[in-house]
Amino acid sequence: MTKIVNHWIGGKTVEGTSGNFGPVTDPATGQVTTKVAYASTDEVDAAVAAAKDAFVTWGQSSLAQRTSILFKFRALLDQHRDEIAELITAEHGKVHSDALGEVARGLEIVDLACGINVQLKGELSTQVATRVDVAAIRQPLGVVAGITPFNFPAMVPMWMFPLAIACGNTFVLKPSEKDPSASVRLAELLAEAGLPDGVFNVVHGDKVAVDRLLEHPDVKAVSFVGSTPIARYIHTTASANGKRVQALGGAKNHMLVLPDADLDAAADAAVSAAYGSAGERCMAISAVVAVGSIGDELVEKIRERAEKIKIGPGNDPTSEMGPLITATHRDKVASYVHNAAAEGCEVVLDGTGYTVEGYENGHWIGISLLDKVPTTAKAYQDEIFGPVLCVLRVDTYEEGVALINGSPFGNGTAIFTRDGGAARRFQLEIEAGMVGVNVPIPVPVGYHSFGGWKDSLFGDHHIYGNDGTHFYTRGKVITSRWPDPADAPSGVDLGFPRNH
Ligand code: NAD
Repeated sequence: MTKIVNHWIGGKTVEGTSGNFGPVTDPATGQVTTKVAYASTDEVDAAVAAAKDAFVTWGQSSLAQRTSILFKFRALLDQHRDEIAELITAEHGKVHSDALGEVARGLEIVDLACGINVQLKGELSTQVATRVDVAAIRQPLGVVAGITPFNFPAMVPMWMFPLAIACGNTFVLKPSEKDPSASVRLAELLAEAGLPDGVFNVVHGDKVAVDRLLEHPDVKAVSFVGSTPIARYIHTTASANGKRVQALGGAKNHMLVLPDADLDAAADAAVSAAYGSAGERCMAISAVVAVGSIGDELVEKIRERAEKIKIGPGNDPTSEMGPLITATHRDKVASYVHNAAAEGCEVVLDGTGYTVEGYENGHWIGISLLDKVPTTAKAYQDEIFGPVLCVLRVDTYEEGVALINGSPFGNGTAIFTRDGGAARRFQLEIEAGMVGVNVPIPVPVGYHSFGGWKDSLFGDHHIYGNDGTHFYTRGKVITSRWPDPADAPSGVDLGFPRNH
């Protein structure tokens, strides 16, 4: 029997009433395993109303109450790592170890939220004028919404809601309709940890649900992670509706390899970062830029390693790479490889047409490696979001930096070198939000913030870390005077207040 995934509103499962359902497919078998309810605007309104009601008390709750619940949630999450990873693999397709890694990175943000009392410490200046003190505090916004992509169905929601609710907000999540089960399991664990009803809600669906969140007058802020065109749309629409918004978009992450680099380490890193999670990571390396004469040797080292990757179902412990999310996406990824030669690329490995015995209907594609890719090729210009690595050749460091800075995306980038001076220059000259030095996927730890530049992020705030706390709170400054009985009597003074 097909499983049904319903909404989570006001602390309980709420069956979808819109009559609209979407299919959820196991990417390894190609079988539809689940139906997910798509919310109508009324159902989104019900979730926002539950969150608004809950904010009345949650917004006033003590930091100790909030953190004690978050500590319990952390323990439950830790206990249920495997189960959540299995849900992710069943709907996303990534291998179990990768899904466990995603849960671990989400847990880091819960760790951070458990220490929210430290982050929310205010500022106090005493005696700024005679018997006048100034305090700066930060307060929650109210109901905030999160809209998340398919590729990290547990981690990306956890980039958002732990800090949002720790700051005293209530939350409505609209997860990806392609792999919705992990988000509902997180909601159940939050309830088990003692989170009051309505503080965390999940509505599933498509554009109808998203658009209602973007226009709802009671939603004060929107966090979005997904592709660039939708991120741009979310930022424009939510901003026009007066909301605070952070919208993280797509990427084309470059890895610059200088001639002095350890080429074995660079090849290991390129293969891990390009083909891990079948390239469906916003921090995947999709373009290697080889400087000088090392190109042939580097491509050969990448090819040797890439050919050995074991592709298979995510729940097989011997698999290193799983299938793609949908057959449509698989075909789109394949089209870039099919067109590559005509666009001037040298096709070193062609992974199209790949299949796995016993799983012939799965969304499989093998490893593709394109060399001498011109910047005019679609395979270079677009975010492919699949296991296709482009290698570009340049003569100098300066040419490499200019090429990378010419990309409209600016999520992450990396340099591989033994030259500290060149690495330092790169850190300062490169136009991207996250930079790795001999580190291919420079995803910051939870207590730093994550986010790109240019078309990889719309809005002022990166996500989680201090930027996260800042995004989910607003500042208030309180100036107070407590006169002493011995003070001279006050009088009317129409002058602008001076401090003395
Ligand atoms: P997507 O943009 O298609 O979908 C993201 C969310 O937006 C989903 O919840 C989806 O239901 C919703 N959505 C889709 N189309 C919409 C529309 N027309 N109107 C309103 N809402 C809409 O992204 P995806 O395919 O789920 O995820 C992959 C993308 O996410 C890639 O581009 C990847 O780079 C990006 N991503 C970025 C980061 C980052 O930190 N920058 C992290 C993870 C993923």
